[in-house]
Amino acid sequence: MADKKISELKNLVNEPKIAYFTMEIGLREEIPTYSGGLGILAGDATKSAADLEIPFVAVTLLNHKGYFTQELTRDGRQIEHPVKWNPKKYLTPLPFTTEVHIRGRRVLIKPWLYTVRGASGAKVHVLFLDTDLPENILKDRQISNFLYGGDAKYRLKQEIVLGVGGARILKSLGVDVKKYHMNEGHAAFLTLELLRMHNFNLEEARKKCVFTTHTPVAAGHDHFDYALAEEQMEPLVAPELLRKLCGKENLNMTRLAFNMSSYVNGVAKRHKQISEKMFPGYEIHAITNGVHSSTWTHPSFRKLYNKYLPSWEAEPELFIRAAIIPNEEIWKARDKAKSEMIDYVNKKTKAGMEKNVLTIGFARRATAYKRHNFIFSDLERLKEIAKIHPFQIIFAGKAHPRDLGGKQIIREVFKNIKKLKGKIKIAYLENYDIEMAKKLTSGCDVWLNNPERPMEASGTSGMKAAHNGVLNFSVLDGWWLEGFVEGVTGWAIGPGPNEKINLAKAKKRELEDLYSKLEYAILPMYYDRRDDWMEMMENSISKLAYYFNTHRMMRRYVLYAYL
Ligand SMILES: *Cc1c(COP(=O)(O)O)cnc(C)c1O
Repeated sequence: MADKKISELKNLVNEPKIAYFTMEIGLREEIPTYSGGLGILAGDATKSAADLEIPFVAVTLLNHKGYFTQELTRDGRQIEHPVKWNPKKYLTPLPFTTEVHIRGRRVLIKPWLYTVRGASGAKVHVLFLDTDLPENILKDRQISNFLYGGDAKYRLKQEIVLGVGGARILKSLGVDVKKYHMNEGHAAFLTLELLRMHNFNLEEARKKCVFTTHTPVAAGHDHFDYALAEEQMEPLVAPELLRKLCGKENLNMTRLAFNMSSYVNGVAKRHKQISEKMFPGYEIHAITNGVHSSTWTHPSFRKLYNKYLPSWEAEPELFIRAAIIPNEEIWKARDKAKSEMIDYVNKKTKAGMEKNVLTIGFARRATAYKRHNFIFSDLERLKEIAKIHPFQIIFAGKAHPRDLGGKQIIREVFKNIKKLKGKIKIAYLENYDIEMAKKLTSGCDVWLNNPERPMEASGTSGMKAAHNGVLNFSVLDGWWLEGFVEGVTGWAIGPGPNEKINLAKAKKRELEDLYSKLEYAILPMYYDRRDDWMEMMENSISKLAYYFNTHRMMRRYVLYAYL
């Protein structure tokens, strides 16, 4: 065991690395240190880095209690339970520690190692930072416990451990860091530690930092009162410099990351434009998100791709020839993925879903802008549509424990399910996670996404769907603006970003598109024009999965941000 540890460590220090800092990471369902898209992206990026043999190490926190396990009562009330899991089963504690100071106390941090093995056998490591050590007082032991738990003070402490602790642990392990990549602003404190390491030479420190922003609304950016920050943090830099870097009013982590990075990017072209408006004066690039093809492809489709597009996992560009896969075989793979999912849903709920009925999937974090209830805006219309051609809907998604609006959304979906009972089969699945996301994004027929524009920075679940020939039906925001060709790769809902119409009118258009395309384009094609449907499935693979994968994304990061 000890030998194994040492050889792993050799791997960690053998060449300069990209150090990827992320508050959450979704590598596999057994490691519950993620809450949603941001974490899944981090996991997928890490897996692609391993496949592509990019010298890369990820740094995150070890959440002993995870995010939370979601229980839903009969009326859709969310109850949260701490996740029970055993880190020892998946991670190896390293015989090293580092420390940070919080409110004058020394807080010890121990890293745990997780190894991601790429397709060619290359390894990439993830360091999970843990403060739950007997040397720390109880309060400090809990810092790394919950992902996004607690109040501003708790969050601040976590960000100190992640940013400052992360930078220190890499240094003490002897990792030569070529670039520090901040996946969202949570880790931006690392730049202050870096400043110290570079004798406060701003340019030297900036040269080493890359920042990816993910949030298209000002309120979504992490910020702290200076009073709180100065009470809790050790004085890493002088107060005047801190204010210069983080903003006058409060300590804004996004601003810090912007000011301290030599390369900044948004996660889709549209998101870059929105971010430029929000942060005028900064140069912002666009690297559109992707998903890890191999992770998000159902076994039945994997088999097909292995047969017709060998080495697609190393080179998802090979999807460009998806047209050579015979339709019958695609349909068989589809049938298998769908059948498995329907069995799964029927086991979990009493919805009685049917295998030959068009199935719409809607699964994502339950929060206001995602608009889970948008499709229920006109129940009479929905019932009319279902009378002509049947369809069923599967929902899933957790609300953040303090997002009361998000919790209300789930209760409303439950009310709508009751109202439509006997007319349209609808299920809301408990505890959305990676395993469930795999089932839903491969087993549905149509993947619906109707967020409020321009709130969806990118969105990635639709890309997972595309890898399995599930057709996207989405609002024109985020990645879909770059992927949609109407009636070819999927369908658009509502106006594009360049149409000058007011919010109310846009919403009306979105609703009209949602209902009329469902009624006149999607349902008739599914039931009556199977060949056209198959062609769109094929297009999803050859035009969407071809591009919207993390292999393409990571190659761009290497070329534009890391080199
Ligand atoms: C992919 C994924 C998400 C992100 O989905 P979006 O549609 O981008 O919001 C969230 N949660 C889980 C578990 C996922 O697998």
